[in-house]
Amino acid sequence: MRYRPVGDTGTEVSALGIGTMRFKDRENAARMIERELELGLTYFDIGSAYSYKDFDENAETWVGAAIAGKDRSQMVISAKAQPRHGEPQVDRGLGISTRDQMAQCIDNSLQRVGVQHFDFYQLWDMSAADHFEAACAGNDSPLAAMRQARDQGLVRHLGFTSHGGADDILSWLQQVPDFRFVTIYYNFNDRYPERVLEYCLEHQVGVCIMGPLRGGLLTGSSEVFAQHLPALAGMPVQEIALRFLLGSPAVSTVISGMNEIAHLEENAAVASLEDPMPLDQRAQFIEAFREFSQGQELCTACRYCAGKCPEGLNVSHLMGLLQLHDVFGLSTADPQIKALAGNERQNPAKCVACGACVEACPQDLDIPGRMDRFTVLIEELTSA
Ligand code: SF4
Ligand code: SF4
Repeated sequence: MRYRPVGDTGTEVSALGIGTMRFKDRENAARMIERELELGLTYFDIGSAYSYKDFDENAETWVGAAIAGKDRSQMVISAKAQPRHGEPQVDRGLGISTRDQMAQCIDNSLQRVGVQHFDFYQLWDMSAADHFEAACAGNDSPLAAMRQARDQGLVRHLGFTSHGGADDILSWLQQVPDFRFVTIYYNFNDRYPERVLEYCLEHQVGVCIMGPLRGGLLTGSSEVFAQHLPALAGMPVQEIALRFLLGSPAVSTVISGMNEIAHLEENAAVASLEDPMPLDQRAQFIEAFREFSQGQELCTACRYCAGKCPEGLNVSHLMGLLQLHDVFGLSTADPQIKALAGNERQNPAKCVACGACVEACPQDLDIPGRMDRFTVLIEELTSA
């Protein structure tokens, strides 16, 4: 296993981290964590709401049971709670908007995992302006409790996780310099956070990547990579995806919701390589994206088009699916694509070429043309 610095925190983490969201049950968690520790994984991403049944039966208590008696100094544990206005569910760490609620969340999680401190504490899924407001505004905020916990030695460093846009994430990092760690969604199909990665590298903020395989869609095999990048010929797409992420010097660790030993061992082997994707190969890979798409830009999933379509189409989602098939030559999204035939709300045939999404698109994509192509693709797949 390789180890990487988390920005300027002085902490190092394994290049492959332990996502705890998809454990099947207590036994599965115990088996996975035992093997993860054997393979040298040190970074744990835990969450109060994961697999929550009650206070004593949830992914945090499963982790606590699995690491009991093990050397705490070999583990880097990151916990989190979700900032939102509305009805709080403090036991699950959901809907947190006050200092007291957050202090209780931190205390609950420490108890459930059975440790004296967390290395990181993150605001979970801070993805929109009102989430940031619920988390950080005023003296009674969850952020105030996180700072107090840091002063008391209960947590070492602060951060947040986000599915939000790059502009928001950058703005929050600038407004709250205490945030020394971010967890963001990034993979070779969804490249909108690359500006965030550049910022984090420059300002020494640690980065954890979630969604490395786009929920299992970046898997299997594709001829396209071998055609344009012979060095990657024969490599499973999931390995290419992981190498692509680990090839970024900004990335501290990558978490994947693994609950099978075989997947864990495959991913750990990639994270143990000295140089999973050299910078020149990574640049060549990015350049090859244009060749894949005959010189056209790709959708980065930036979501600037969100809410623009008068027909209610989720343009970003549809463009992402289309390029998985047409650009990257993957068939993993085909079931989702075929299902659009019977989907009245998200059928690309609804596009009336009004151009509203194109105006918002920084990539200047020919979205109406791609919606036409998408309609043909659905026909091809459903009649095959
Ligand atoms: S061009 Fe098509 S997809 Fe884009 S906003 Fe108009 S109707 Fe929606
Ligand atoms: S279609 Fe354009 S605006 Fe919409 S997510 Fe993709 S790149 Fe961004």
